[in-house]
Amino acid sequence: MIIAVDGPAASGKGTIAKALARHYGLSHLDTGLLYRAVGMGVLRSGGDPSSPEEALEACRFSANLLEDQALKSEAAGKAASLVSAHPGVRAALFDRQRHFAQQIGGAVLDGRDIGTVIAPEADAKLFVTARPEVRAERRHAELLRAGIEVHFESVLHDIRARDERDSGRSAAPLRMAEDAVLLDTSDLGIAEAIAAAIALVERGGHRPANDAEA
Ligand code: C5P
Repeated sequence: MIIAVDGPAASGKGTIAKALARHYGLSHLDTGLLYRAVGMGVLRSGGDPSSPEEALEACRFSANLLEDQALKSEAAGKAASLVSAHPGVRAALFDRQRHFAQQIGGAVLDGRDIGTVIAPEADAKLFVTARPEVRAERRHAELLRAGIEVHFESVLHDIRARDERDSGRSAAPLRMAEDAVLLDTSDLGIAEAIAAAIALVERGGHRPANDAEA
């Protein structure tokens, strides 16, 4: 079984994807980490993530970079969002994600384009979202817990800017697959969101073809 979990930053998709993988005994890939590794690679070599050539060069990162805690930083997230707009970068990371999705037994992948580009044939497709203010609150709390002092307004501003970049780019923009099911976690706790995700997968994990537009 392949489960695709897409959605914007801090929507809860990573937590949900991990929980689904545990529940169904599947391997999990956080595809955002691949783009973060590329973005971080460019920053560390003193390059510019907006440059397609420099970003492409950074796609040959070594596997141990994926373990680097610095990938979780806001700087890495922003650089990831810049490098991920280059079609060459998306193409360079495609095979790796595709192979992961097609492994024997199945897999859970979370990202922005899993249900639309990487695994359009996925058995279940969830699009996890939440209001921008709620996502910013979660990210803000996470940063404070990590000892990073930052104003809520600036986190909200970054979340909105990232949404705009991820949705507005021409290469694989963030959008919900037509047959994905929507899960809004704005008013749900973690346990409730996970239970709702499992229930959606159990119900087929797809939006019925005759379902009216929301
Ligand atoms: O999910 P995460 O916040 O780690 O992703 C970082 C950035 O990587 C996103 O803002 C997005 O621009 C990019 N990304 C992407 N496609 C994916 C996963 C992440 O473009 N499948």
